[in-house]
Amino acid sequence: MDLVGMDEFYDVVVVGTGVAGLYCALSLPSRYRVLLLSKEKADESDSFLAQGGICMQRGEDDYRPYFDDTMRAGHYESDREAVDLMIRSSNMIIRDLIRRGVRFERDRAGALCFTREGAHSRARILFHEDVTGKEIAQTLLDAVCRCPNIELREGVTLLDFFHDADACGGVIVSGTDENPYSIGGEEDGEPRVIGAGAVVLACGGIGGLYEHSTNFPHITGDAIAMALRHGVACEHLDYVQIHPTTLYSGGPGRRFLISESVRGEGAVLLDRDGRRFIDELQPRDVVSAAIRRQMEKDGTAHVWEDMRPLGEDVLRQHFPNISRHCEEAGYDPLREPVPVVPAQHYFMGGIKVDLSGRTNLPRLYACGETCCNGVHGRNRLASNSLLESLVFAQRAADDIMFAEPPDFRGSRPDVAPYREKEALFAAYRDEVRRAVGGIGAST
Ligand SMILES: Cc1cc2nc3c(=O)[nH]c(=O)nc-3n(C[C@H](O)[C@H](O)[C@H](O)COP(=O)(O)OP(=O)(O)OC[C@H]3O[C@@H](n4cnc5c(N)ncnc54)[C@H](O)[C@@H]3O)c2cc1C
Repeated sequence: MDLVGMDEFYDVVVVGTGVAGLYCALSLPSRYRVLLLSKEKADESDSFLAQGGICMQRGEDDYRPYFDDTMRAGHYESDREAVDLMIRSSNMIIRDLIRRGVRFERDRAGALCFTREGAHSRARILFHEDVTGKEIAQTLLDAVCRCPNIELREGVTLLDFFHDADACGGVIVSGTDENPYSIGGEEDGEPRVIGAGAVVLACGGIGGLYEHSTNFPHITGDAIAMALRHGVACEHLDYVQIHPTTLYSGGPGRRFLISESVRGEGAVLLDRDGRRFIDELQPRDVVSAAIRRQMEKDGTAHVWEDMRPLGEDVLRQHFPNISRHCEEAGYDPLREPVPVVPAQHYFMGGIKVDLSGRTNLPRLYACGETCCNGVHGRNRLASNSLLESLVFAQRAADDIMFAEPPDFRGSRPDVAPYREKEALFAAYRDEVRRAVGGIGAST
């Protein structure tokens, strides 16, 4: 690679500090110099919000049921090879997480506990209270901070990637006005050009584009917009998952999720007259559609979720965070049903990748919610995304390590078009909205 003109060079630049970005960075060889970027604080990613848990194949007997559950939830549009790889890799990934110190729930004898969510034919979900994502992601973030070869920079925004005819050559980034991207103490507020042997996009989903979403508002599909501009292939951009149960709130801001595992443990959904109207453990798209129909029929802004069947012990021990949040919002889940409404939750589409996280631009990889590797089909099975992110982030790291790096021979890109960051990101958001379609104020 011609380094002339680049402000810095790293072997690999990973963008995003959710489980996908963190695990990819950790899976790279320690001799690589890795730059890991996050737009906000490193722990402000959707991965830290995951509540319900992470799936795992429970013995050989569970292979076929797990495979079938994933395919059925995805309306048989999932890529069979990708699903197979994810399921077959699950035990290895869970073993590695436990080895790294992730504390999954165990019974008195020390055996792992499993819970159930919608569309799972058996209990195969590991959890840590109702904050599984935080437990996993914080463990990985702590590990990253101990790695001398990984440089973590928070508050740094990816503005674009650049490439020549053969390969991706690196990224253009900027800090904030308060915290500009400094190189060797130099801070002129200019966008920076960072050369890289490989770039990994792990920028999460698109929830920030919606008025009602469980996602962080800064997660706005930026990498998808960049891919579209550069002609990097994307797939299924209209495949958006609406979660059936978020706590109803008339106000603005991120929607608080009532995890599906609450229904998996026995909570029921009720209409205006206190009657059940749906089998609560059907796939998410089916339950969301039934709730919307019921709201229309009843003329209500929400339906109700009754958690009382779980009993105090389960609510307090397995779901302390959800119970506390409901109480803070003025509802006592031990005494009354709480109002719930569907909201945007997950993006099944994304930058098209193969089973090694490769996009159609050499040396540009994508993993986690930003990518579409085909695992989730048209509708993601609950608790498959943390696992999918980890499995394929590791595979991307393997590919970076084993592949012959093609030589980027291009020159330093002009940073002038990136100086007006607000306008650039407004245009990005519009492009993703148009590509996804149907992002209205009510969703
Ligand atoms: C409330 C909630 C509960 C969930 N529960 C579960 C669950 O129980 N089980 C499960 O399997 N899944 C669950 N999910 C889904 C799962 O958490 C996510 O799909 C998964 O964590 C995505 O990980 P990721 O690494 O791809 O992205 P994220 O964790 O979203 O991280 C994205 C990263 O990209 C960075 N980024 C974005 N744009 C830029 C940019 N332009 N420049 C620099 N950085 C950028 C962000 O700052 C962030 O660090 C849940 C999701 C939510 C929101």
